Amino acid sequence: MIGSFHPPARTLMGPGPSDVNPRILEALSRPTIGHLDPAFIELMDEIKRLLQFAFQTRNALTLPVSAPGSAGMEACFVNLVSPGDTVIVAQNGVFGGRMKENVERCGATAIMVADDWGTPVEPQKVEDALRANPRASVLAFVHAETSTGARSDAATLCRLASAHDCLSIVDVVTSLGGIDVDVDGWGADAVYSGTQKCLSCAPGISPITFSERAQATIKARKTPVQSWFLDMDLVMGYWGENTRRAYHHTAPVNALYGLHETLVILQAEGLEHAWARHAKNHAALAAGLEQLGIEFVVSADYRLPQLNCVTIPDGVDDAALRQQLLRDYQLEIGAGLGPLAGKVWRIGLMGYASNPKNVLLCLGALDAILRQQGISLDSGAAVAAAQAVYG
Ligand SMILES: *Cc1c(COP(=O)(O)O)cnc(C)c1O
Repeated sequence: MIGSFHPPARTLMGPGPSDVNPRILEALSRPTIGHLDPAFIELMDEIKRLLQFAFQTRNALTLPVSAPGSAGMEACFVNLVSPGDTVIVAQNGVFGGRMKENVERCGATAIMVADDWGTPVEPQKVEDALRANPRASVLAFVHAETSTGARSDAATLCRLASAHDCLSIVDVVTSLGGIDVDVDGWGADAVYSGTQKCLSCAPGISPITFSERAQATIKARKTPVQSWFLDMDLVMGYWGENTRRAYHHTAPVNALYGLHETLVILQAEGLEHAWARHAKNHAALAAGLEQLGIEFVVSADYRLPQLNCVTIPDGVDDAALRQQLLRDYQLEIGAGLGPLAGKVWRIGLMGYASNPKNVLLCLGALDAILRQQGISLDSGAAVAAAQAVYG
């Protein structure tokens, strides 16, 4: 007979999911109610308001898609891109490549603007592509590239898009809650995130927001949105203002308790304080890694505090080290993706997992395992350097 599943007690310092705050786990376990229950409708309204706060937007079309970040990405593309359109996609890591897939599956043409992995999107190249493709209707890019740890200049890129009469689609899956995501300040048009990175919620929900311009584009479509499930016109019959809240799909009721709780926690901490906490723990981790002789892939100006992509030192067995971290320390860090596979580690300090205890645990564990693998180190120096940052 198959028994209940009890997960091991891990510390999640990879690229997501990140550690879930026990308050959210408690919220998830509250009794399920009907998805059209008046109490649930109130919860939905609060979630919309809290998401507007987190995204820093007044967009009325702001809601959680009932599926993970990838579905938020797809929702933006299928609603805003029609067959025959031209879309400029900036790619500087894995997720830009997925945007290209989405564009092509919408029957549109993707014009790729490539930058090296580990560098931000270069605005000049994007501007050149916008000039060279006056028919383009959308510019898509990733704000925080989780595969490399690089942050791009979203404000400048959104400004370029609107200056060339394009809508912007911006991936903030890894940024929301960890660094400044200023949807209205940027003038971004379609923005999607995920619950399992810096929001520290269970995976499976994707907050999204659309500007008035984006909504107008959806209304003016000549062909139906290819996805029934992600068609915003239909979804808004359930999530929209002043609607009858007609049944579209059954909302993941308990998952939304969790999202509500995580946003309540974020509101109590304050956005600026959350960003400052991520910056501080990153600084402590970086000080410790330097003592271990471990270098960052991304230059300091564009580094994400929540996703530390670092080069694996020569002579270290990547897989063995990560296995040992998991077995002896219950600690998960991320491996490299694509061209960075086997070359880097991705150490996440996301949301609830961004705390001094995790920084010190990770540095102490790396110190011990690297020495076991024959790397000569001044043992204890990494933890001491991090502690010095905390003061
Ligand atoms: C994780 C991630 C996604 C996909 O989110 P899922 O919840 O895994 O579907 C998309 N974009 C970026 C930048 C991500 O880090």
